[in-house]
Amino acid sequence: MQNDDALAEEVQRFGPDPLSLLSRRINTVDDKIVFACQRSARPRNSVRMLIISKTVPSSILRRLYHAGYTEFGENKVQEALEKREELADLRVTWQMVGHLQKNKAKYIARFASEFHALDDLSLAAELQRRLDIEDRFLDIFVQVNTSGEASKYGLPPDRVPEFVRSLPEFPRLRPRGLMTLALHDTDMSKVRPCFRLLRELRDATAVIDPRVVELSMGMSGDFDVAIEEGATTIRIGQAIFGQRPTPDGFYWPREPNR
Ligand SMILES: *Cc1c(COP(=O)(O)O)cnc(C)c1O
Repeated sequence: MQNDDALAEEVQRFGPDPLSLLSRRINTVDDKIVFACQRSARPRNSVRMLIISKTVPSSILRRLYHAGYTEFGENKVQEALEKREELADLRVTWQMVGHLQKNKAKYIARFASEFHALDDLSLAAELQRRLDIEDRFLDIFVQVNTSGEASKYGLPPDRVPEFVRSLPEFPRLRPRGLMTLALHDTDMSKVRPCFRLLRELRDATAVIDPRVVELSMGMSGDFDVAIEEGATTIRIGQAIFGQRPTPDGFYWPREPNR
């Protein structure tokens, strides 16, 4: 099934026994989740670890699938489409976590179950139209720019209530919660306020739409802090797969909405 080049790349990145390497790293993440839950008096099952598999070849995802990991998050539609094709014989659940151009809405309407980066009503309208055609529903998380960085996608916090109030116009979108990318910094005293702001916004927004309950926040470098601040879904890539070959700027462009 897999050609020699792909196998060589896999061995170079994940060693001769990828599954045991990845299982060990997943266990390490899981230990940190358990401790963070204990510190904040939360049950372990109140936090979901969503594996973010961008740049990871489908051969690796196939192994993880057979080890019981059946849900993967991707940032780019094209990459997700390719992997979905390569894994068409499996019942993978695909989540899309990255900014989406409107002309790609038709693809994710076909196969994604969650979309974590909704921040635009015209995109919501296009998703609604495409989901109607596919006769499908899509769980959505509203992305909020909690760091104030111009380079981040997401709604400014003060526009979230009005945005959530409009969502019932799109009955095929099922609001689940809010999502954010915190400030990218190793100083957690700068990162934590982003998570706290998202939680406060969620509390305020749940009054408007009681379906908005979840917090998709926290990545490899900051998920324990996110859990302390109430994260229900943490999105983990590099803590499992190691450093990515592509720079982060590829996923979080400097100029949003070009
Ligand atoms: C890549 C990505 C993540 C995971 O980041 P890591 O640093 O690899 O854990 C989380 N959220 C989004 C939107 C991403 O694109």
